[in-house]
Amino acid sequence: SMASPALLMRVVASAYSVAEKAATIVRNVMSAGDLGIVEKAGPNDLQTKADRLVQMSICASLARKFPKVTIIGEEELPNDDVSEDLIEDGHYEEILKKPCPAQYTGIKEEELVIWVDPLDGTKEYTEGLLDHVTVLIGIAYGGKAIAGVINQPYYNYEAGANAVLGRTIWGVLGMGAFGFQLTEAPAGKHIVVTTRSHSSALVNECITALNPDHVIRVGGAGNKIIQLIEGKASAYVFASPGCKKWDTCAPEAILHAVGGKITDIRGNSFQYNKEVKHMNSAGVLATLRNYDYYASRIPNTVKESLVP
Ligand code: AMP
Ligand code: MG
Ligand code: MG
Repeated sequence: SMASPALLMRVVASAYSVAEKAATIVRNVMSAGDLGIVEKAGPNDLQTKADRLVQMSICASLARKFPKVTIIGEEELPNDDVSEDLIEDGHYEEILKKPCPAQYTGIKEEELVIWVDPLDGTKEYTEGLLDHVTVLIGIAYGGKAIAGVINQPYYNYEAGANAVLGRTIWGVLGMGAFGFQLTEAPAGKHIVVTTRSHSSALVNECITALNPDHVIRVGGAGNKIIQLIEGKASAYVFASPGCKKWDTCAPEAILHAVGGKITDIRGNSFQYNKEVKHMNSAGVLATLRNYDYYASRIPNTVKESLVP
């Protein structure tokens, strides 16, 4: 008989289905019309009913199947019993059919850390910029982001009634990434993608120093990595604290799985072990190609202003 699939592939296959359930919750909360907005640190740091329900759904669903895995979610929520209608116990069979990369076949549950951003781009969600929103499930082993799922609940929402609404992108290091068409940004053009709702003088100073041909300002860390892998932008540049490990884990795994690179503004890689500080204090620099072009042009004054 066939050996049962490796743990990593079972976790990714379940995370895929859990992220699709999450997307349904995100859409249902919006169409019901009561977002239940709560300010966390301030007016640019929001939580909605969708952030809360989705986090409960993802964390409880994955914890039930993989009880020894460490799961870290963005939202601080009471440890109430999670309602059964939030539990997803399915998995995506296609993922289980693929062989696990050899270096990950021996991973045990207690060695995995899952970083969950239930709704990335909350500010934009509350403002109706719906395709900026993603659900992020990142899987780390040995401190590295090795697999990830990005669901975009409102992909195609302006494409008309015949278009399929929403999509799920997933990837594993050593295997590749799926659910989208990998596309390189226009050659010889420097298109920078950055925050739209968390700008600062330093964020803008850094972008100006790169002298880009064009700047795209959109919400969400997940959404900005999608801009890179679909060739809409050539670099994601964010010279500010604010982004956390749950924002970068799934995007990092997917970007690295297709040969891209993400670091902080100073060029340090991110760590995802369970004890790590949540804040990416020294910002984000990510590209699909030509990382060195951008890294070499970040001013030292900007690097020195950001302490890891
Ligand atoms: P943005 O590019 O502004 O959408 O930010 C990407 C991710 O980092 C989102 O989850 C934001 O909520 C988070 N983030 C970035 N800057 C801040 C900030 N100053 N305060 C709170 N969250 C932030
Ligand atoms: Mg986020
Ligand atoms: Mg969030």
